[in-house]
Amino acid sequence: MELVKTDLKSYQDYQEIIDTNTKAQLDYFANKLQGKKIAMVNATSFGGGVAEILHSFVPLARDMGLNIDWWVIKGTDEFYNVTKSFHNCLQGEEGQLSAEAKEIYLKYNQMNAARVDEWNYDFIVIHDPQPAALIEYLKAKEGAKWIWRCHIDTSTPNPEYWNFLYQYIKQYDACVFTMEEFVKEHELLRNLTFITPSIDPLSPKNIKLEEEEAQRIIVRFGVDIHRPLISQISRFDPWKDPLGVIDVYKIVKKELPSVQLTLVGSMASDDPEGWDYLYRTLRRAGEDYDIKVITNFNGVSNKEVNAFQTVSDVLLQKSIREGFGLTVSEGLWKGTPVIGGNVGGIKYQIKDGVTGYLVETVEECAEKVLRLLRNPNLAQEMMEAGQERVRRHFLITTNILNYLKLFDKLEN
Ligand code: UDP
Repeated sequence: MELVKTDLKSYQDYQEIIDTNTKAQLDYFANKLQGKKIAMVNATSFGGGVAEILHSFVPLARDMGLNIDWWVIKGTDEFYNVTKSFHNCLQGEEGQLSAEAKEIYLKYNQMNAARVDEWNYDFIVIHDPQPAALIEYLKAKEGAKWIWRCHIDTSTPNPEYWNFLYQYIKQYDACVFTMEEFVKEHELLRNLTFITPSIDPLSPKNIKLEEEEAQRIIVRFGVDIHRPLISQISRFDPWKDPLGVIDVYKIVKKELPSVQLTLVGSMASDDPEGWDYLYRTLRRAGEDYDIKVITNFNGVSNKEVNAFQTVSDVLLQKSIREGFGLTVSEGLWKGTPVIGGNVGGIKYQIKDGVTGYLVETVEECAEKVLRLLRNPNLAQEMMEAGQERVRRHFLITTNILNYLKLFDKLEN
């Protein structure tokens, strides 16, 4: 296990964005929890939504006066291959959980637990399945309240994987899911709580970028800013359906030949499958030079993602399964219309026809893209509604508040 270093954040900077009620509650609970030690534990400090949230959550909570650390468990490809199958199968993919996979999973959890001495935390929040079995090796030693936070869509899990995981998560003092529909079996889960993830309005990814600056950034990737642009910002993963996005683009292209597509994806360190899917995406894109497939290895970092989300005419998040989909809120916050798959957490962010569109198929998605590209006024109305929805429900400050309320409840 390794401690993750984060940048500094100032709570003061958020005062203008949050409403007085949220602020009063944050101040109250942060004060009440002074002196308590909190640990966040996940599998990677880079790539994917959890790392994204913790990079803001941890330093901001620290600046509110909370004593909080972020730990990342260590693993190698054999562990990440197994945990990737956990991720996929908990989201419903077929597959058998072999004795060998269980052994690898537990071996790495045990090895990481063995590296811990003298933690002394009051609250330990374990994110996702990768480190979920740490509790087996540490609960007796640590007098903490343990919280398991699930970020994935477990509404129709592969039973073999779910049953295996269940024996660990039922040991937790609380379990947090994003939506009620993600929890089918919960008789033995204690303090079941629902909290949505969030975006940081002041992070380099979400802070307001002037249009000209954003345009200058995306021109570097070969995009023509005078032509319509559709983008999807996502890991290369079958659940994100990048191949479907290319098929959507191809339909739109027939009607609107000037359209361009960018697929922007970061390669997470705990996602070995990502490379394979990137190559499949490149093959589907073929020789069409109006499709740009770019990654962090082409120099895409937070500011570049911000620029693509700011400048694109339509953003897609055409997922087939989605725990939440931070990219949806990121897009809505920037006032760009978002079309998402009608699944999981995306349904929570997009109110169909009001803050964007929810779609089931490639054809429907292409039709909605064309509708938005041809009706700038419609896009404008959706943009305002979308931004307001994010401000009310999906900002980092509300997320911290929800956790503080849970900690407080577990204390009593
Ligand atoms: N992201 C990024 N660079 C990329 C692609 C994605 O920084 O090239 C970020 C994206 O902006 C979002 C996060 O990674 O903040 C992905 O979170 P999401 O919840 O959408 O999906 P996850 O990867 O967790 O399934």
